[in-house]
Amino acid sequence: MSDAAERINVVAVLGAGTMGAGIAQVAAVSGLRTRMYDVAEQFLERGRAAIADSLRRLVARGRLESATREAALAGLEPTTRLEDLADADFVIEAAPEELPLKQSLFKRLDELCPPHTILASNTSSLSITELASATRRPQQVVGLHFFNPPALMQLVEVIGGQLASAESLETTRALARRLGKRPVTARDTPGFIVNRVARPFYLESLRMLGEGLAPVETVDRAAREVAGFRMGPFELLDLIGIDVNLAVSQTVYEAWYQEPRFRPHPIQRAMVRAGQVGRKSGRGFYDYSATPPTPCYPPPQGSPIALLDPSAAPWPEWAARLAPSGQADPLAVALAARLVATLANEAALALQEGVASREDIDAAMKLGTAYPHGPLEWADQVGLPLVVRTLEALQQTVSPERYQPAQVLRRLVALEHRIT
Ligand code: NAD
Repeated sequence: MSDAAERINVVAVLGAGTMGAGIAQVAAVSGLRTRMYDVAEQFLERGRAAIADSLRRLVARGRLESATREAALAGLEPTTRLEDLADADFVIEAAPEELPLKQSLFKRLDELCPPHTILASNTSSLSITELASATRRPQQVVGLHFFNPPALMQLVEVIGGQLASAESLETTRALARRLGKRPVTARDTPGFIVNRVARPFYLESLRMLGEGLAPVETVDRAAREVAGFRMGPFELLDLIGIDVNLAVSQTVYEAWYQEPRFRPHPIQRAMVRAGQVGRKSGRGFYDYSATPPTPCYPPPQGSPIALLDPSAAPWPEWAARLAPSGQADPLAVALAARLVATLANEAALALQEGVASREDIDAAMKLGTAYPHGPLEWADQVGLPLVVRTLEALQQTVSPERYQPAQVLRRLVALEHRIT
């Protein structure tokens, strides 16, 4: 561990909501003195109660010693006074996702905290560089992006703003390891690793639905049973909240200057407008008043003839790779293949743009989204030539602009190399 990380004694967490309370819990369990700040007592109380409850459940499941629970609760110091954070060695901001609010917090923290303090944000979508610009220490401002729930999710993304120092990033990674997390390092680009590379899982599924290829339950079954995802994309959209997912898609799309690959789908917007946003509203792509939930999105009319035409894309080759026992029907293979090929391409684009290393991209997707394989190692398993030919076929049959294979894939195919 870096010396600087070892010297961290006091951690401050701003915001005691879903993420802030979870992050404060992780810090307190790791034996750090943890100041938890929020704007009113009632939010601190709610956060503290959530932590106590979560720790109780971990003890009940045998995942935590009760002495550690007691020590963690004793090490937690809730406060509504920002001045109480003045001796923090490391600050993690988890306030609402609003740039002016976060910038004003960073400005105040910069004035309050000693020169060595690193200021981190848990933001999912804002620019770390822009947050850093509100301070006089941009070299010590980083992103430290946890996943929900922080106590259980092992992944954290460590993001350096444009001016972040290598030392600050190293200290942040070392602190993440001290918290029992697996840090991956990402450049400050929209969506970082996970929220960017995962976009095709949702968007490609919505497009396949929009193209009339298959009903939601067929896409979900193909994703689970042929590709091996834990949940189908529409099941997951309903769980996350179709509105929450749309907001992320919109932010990533705008931040990439309206890159067509990231264009949100009108089906999703219509669902949000109808108030049909998933489990929390009782209805999304599935109706949750029934057990088990039943699909309630109207199935497409007609049959997907073009998709199944082997001359249009190498679907039979995918069947040999994804379902070697020959069980899966050709439509399910084609649906799964489109998900895997577009995820692999997005991961390859992130790699080629230097967003993160091969290892970190694959680790991030396995730990942050529970994909059965990292998308880059998956591309190797399936075969890069097949991935590239599939994307080229989709360029011809669906959209010339959205399926452009990453240059790195084309070059590796030409050299007959693997990616990982
Ligand atoms: P939340 O609404 O549950 O919690 C936000 C908390 O911040 C509330 O307790 C609120 O009282 C408090 N707050 C309001 N104004 C504040 C201020 N000026 N200073 C400090 N605290 C203030 O939100 P959340 O889901 O915990 O998200 C917090 C951050 O984490 C956001 O930036 C979000 O994008 C990011 N994030 C969320 C998730 C997720 O799944 N919820 C995952 C990763 C990252």
